[in-house]
Amino acid sequence: MHMAILARKRKRLARRNRLYVFLLAFVAVGMIITLLWLVANSRNFMLFGNIVTHVETDEKVVALTLDDGPLPGTTEETLKILRELDVKATFFTIGVESERHPDQLRKIIAAEHEVGNHSYSHNLMLFTTYGTVTKEIEDTDTLIRAAGYTGQIPFRVPYNYKFITLPYYLMKHERSDISHNVSTNEGWEYSPEEIAADVVRKVSPGSIVLLHPMYDHTLSSRRAIPLIVDELRAKGYRFVTVSQLLLYEKS
Ligand SMILES: [Zn+2]
Repeated sequence: MHMAILARKRKRLARRNRLYVFLLAFVAVGMIITLLWLVANSRNFMLFGNIVTHVETDEKVVALTLDDGPLPGTTEETLKILRELDVKATFFTIGVESERHPDQLRKIIAAEHEVGNHSYSHNLMLFTTYGTVTKEIEDTDTLIRAAGYTGQIPFRVPYNYKFITLPYYLMKHERSDISHNVSTNEGWEYSPEEIAADVVRKVSPGSIVLLHPMYDHTLSSRRAIPLIVDELRAKGYRFVTVSQLLLYEKS
């Protein structure tokens, strides 16, 4: 009788221990996944290489970076706005769009803006093979060069998600991920005034501003550009390209 109780007790204990081990494993896996997710989406940390979100400087310089495209119509509209303001921006172009609309890319180059590489397909490159990462980046460089661009080509990770292969490629090729430290909500539901006010509020010397003005639904972003430029100029800011901005980094 006594032995039977002991055996039951032992069994109960074993069951409880199994439950603890299971719970601990569950928590540990959850923590690892969360950590990896934070690393993959971090704005200022990569497993390899270097992310640039802004430049440390006391000078009132700011870089306007315009992502995605080039798309017909909206690119020309954006170029016209920038020409009227006499601002040089950095366009982070998507390879597949440059292939579809090479004339738009050539217009950006002719207007002497900086052309950046924002990958070929703009796919999430989290678990992409090294070979695919290489192709995504180098095919886009090739398209930019084929359009006649001779300047530096900064690179920006699509969606700001990267894990192992993409940062490793960038480190090996001594390229940074040019990210940003100023962005805002964009789309139909936001007015140009709202977009501009939020951007102006967030800018500080050395900021990199991100906008997506080349979609049909981001007309407000295009219209916000003159407001942003005028307000920041009134505060003493000058607009430069990303490559120019990097030269202001305090050593
Ligand atoms: Zn993008």
